Amino acid sequence: MKQRACKVCNTIYEGDKCPRCGSKEFTEGFKGKIQVLNPEKSEIAKKLNIKEKGKFAIKTR
Ligand SMILES: [Zn+2]
Repeated sequence: MKQRACKVCNTIYEGDKCPRCGSKEFTEGFKGKIQVLNPEKSEIAKKLNIKEKGKFAIKTR
């Protein structure tokens, strides 16, 4: 299955809805991936407003 990125929280997932926020608004055309291990210390996580660990898309358009 293709990976999708949630447009609401940027989480990358496979399936029919976002496991993190439950949104069904997604894109398959996301750009860039980051694995956030330490959201409090990650500059990019701050920029993207990510507060949890996980895999996220950098751009969802
Ligand atoms: Zn989401």
